[in-house]
Amino acid sequence: MILTITSERAPATDLGYLLHKNPARVHDFDLPFGKATVFYPEATDECCTAALLLHVDPIGLVRRPKGASPGFALEQYVNDRPYSASSYLSVAISRVFGTALSGRCSKRPELVEETMPLRAKLAALPSRGGPAILERLFQPLGYSVETTRHPLDENFPEWGDSAYYAVELQAEKTLKDLLSHLYVLVPVLDDNKHYWVGEAEVEKLLHHAESWLGDHPEKTSIAERYLKHRRNLVDDALSRLLDEDPTDPDEARESSDRQEEAVEQPLKLNEIRLRAVVDALLQAGAKRVLDLGCGEGKLIRLLLRDKSFEEIVGLDVSHRALEIAQKRLHWDRMPERQRRRIRLLHGSLTYRDRRLEGYDGAALVEVIEHLEAGRLRALERTVFEFARPATVIVTTPNREYNAKFETLASGRMRHPDHRFEWNREEFTRWANDVAESYGYSVRFVPIGPEDGELGPPTQMGVFRR
Ligand code: SAH
Repeated sequence: MILTITSERAPATDLGYLLHKNPARVHDFDLPFGKATVFYPEATDECCTAALLLHVDPIGLVRRPKGASPGFALEQYVNDRPYSASSYLSVAISRVFGTALSGRCSKRPELVEETMPLRAKLAALPSRGGPAILERLFQPLGYSVETTRHPLDENFPEWGDSAYYAVELQAEKTLKDLLSHLYVLVPVLDDNKHYWVGEAEVEKLLHHAESWLGDHPEKTSIAERYLKHRRNLVDDALSRLLDEDPTDPDEARESSDRQEEAVEQPLKLNEIRLRAVVDALLQAGAKRVLDLGCGEGKLIRLLLRDKSFEEIVGLDVSHRALEIAQKRLHWDRMPERQRRRIRLLHGSLTYRDRRLEGYDGAALVEVIEHLEAGRLRALERTVFEFARPATVIVTTPNREYNAKFETLASGRMRHPDHRFEWNREEFTRWANDVAESYGYSVRFVPIGPEDGELGPPTQMGVFRR
């Protein structure tokens, strides 16, 4: 597998400074999956080409179980990895050209932000989905794209074309932009990754693509392919990317949370609510419990104090909330025995999540009203059909009571992120429907000081299977 990068901006050998690799030498690197060599086939003032040659060792990969991928029996030995550009190339770019990729150049810092006419050539780039995809990915970033399709076997033209292309990309770019485009888009074209894709991959994608992916017309398919079609990761990446509001969304969330607390504070509603949830879980005899939409971990802290809860799992879609939860729980100073009782998971309740299966109890405290009404059905299935704990506790505001909050303007909701606030009848109807659909029974418990006419400020449904 070979990638070459050519600069023709005089003095072209500046490319050597930017890549931190002296054009006069050959540079060898050991990588987890083989070897990489950097050399310069041409290095004059007018034209300088750096080549990154990768030797992926398929036999070595098989011997290291982490690199092995399941497939047909010989796939581990007979595959395209040594020859074609794939996620191995991205790893090599970050290992071998990491300084350039991150936009640092100690000897000539002024070069980092300088755009220059650059040309990148990949000898064999797979493009699952044909040459059109290649163009759709690179052209919006300003590249002219030239592709030559490789035949499956040049000795047997009747076998037709392969999925591999010799590709030449040309544009006026900074080197770090060119490297970040290749780093992200090569595995996207391959539509595969040689390693497990988890949350860290979302961070990587955002880190390398934040400045250009938001405006890219193919951003959704890029995120899908980069994140191996793992729906919750893709959603997380896109929602963070597409948030065009320049204010930090997490900051906005925090200030909204404070606003809601301020509205409800005179009643100490938060404490009363959490106490009621803990009591309901205790009454149900739940020992292994889920706090779904755990936010900053207030319920988790309360649950921890009671030894009857042996295992406590908090899940939230917001990274930032989980970070705060971890801090507030003093995770790093927590005795090992306590720490073993808790787990914090990042995920969305609108997708089936096997990590949530096999628990006795689940609480959704002030969570459902944060979902678009259309996504609520997905949450119902995740919780009641798939996770299916024996007890599920759901709390949500009672809209009727809002009239009694002096600081809340008439007709307003308690929290700007609430998508709805139900009156008692609406909540009862929803809860009865859910119970019936998924084979649960439900009873309703008022939370907070009840008004004769308007009912309680918070409504709670306790579902039992
Ligand atoms: N239960 C906490 C937080 C309530 S605020 C408490 O009582 O303090 C609602 C929480 O639900 C937020 O932390 C929000 O990030 C989370 N949330 C919203 N949509 C979600 C989804 N689809 N999956 C998981 N969590 C979600």
